[in-house]
Amino acid sequence: MTTSPAKYGPTKHPTDAVLTDYVSGSLRQAFSAVVAAHLEHCADCRVAVSGLEAIGGALIESLPAGDMDAERLIEAMAALDKPEPKRAQEGKPTEGRVPFGGELWLSPGMGIRRARRAGKGKDLLYLLRLPAGQITLPHGHNGVEFTTVLKGAYKDGDQIFAAGDFCELDASCDHQPQVQTDGECVCMIASERPMRTTTRIGRIVQALTGV
Ligand SMILES: [Zn+2]
Repeated sequence: MTTSPAKYGPTKHPTDAVLTDYVSGSLRQAFSAVVAAHLEHCADCRVAVSGLEAIGGALIESLPAGDMDAERLIEAMAALDKPEPKRAQEGKPTEGRVPFGGELWLSPGMGIRRARRAGKGKDLLYLLRLPAGQITLPHGHNGVEFTTVLKGAYKDGDQIFAAGDFCELDASCDHQPQVQTDGECVCMIASERPMRTTTRIGRIVQALTGV
């Protein structure tokens, strides 16, 4: 009798375009932090990032002198020298190196921690904690949103996002994810703009949290 092999690691990953932007340093800070959180959980994407870094290094070395101005060269080299993300210990959720503020509790088991620094402009970066079985308020988005699940799992439509999984949404998405019933769920989320709320209570939550 054969048994199916155990599945390790996340199953939902950033696109190649997102990983390329991450390696080149062109992702804004909040979004880069959420990709880094996924990389801590995902050996496959760490390998992909190493490959992209090697390609970037080889390209720079192959350029004849004078093809790239000094400033861009310095930027490109700085991106290559970025330290590798800290490896997460198996099963231990991590918040990476981002400094987050204290937890604002919205209801029992439901809290938000905003990043002390989310980078340029109006980008939002926060940790969202939801208790087991919690159904979120129905909402949409006003721009790009990246999420990495740090702990637990949630269901969105017919897909389940579990610890380490990455999700990229855009403004076309309206949804109402639900946390799985076997434990709380913590996500790191970067968003270009506050969510599009469709309920009165949603607007109250938004006024309290700014997300
Ligand atoms: Zn991955």
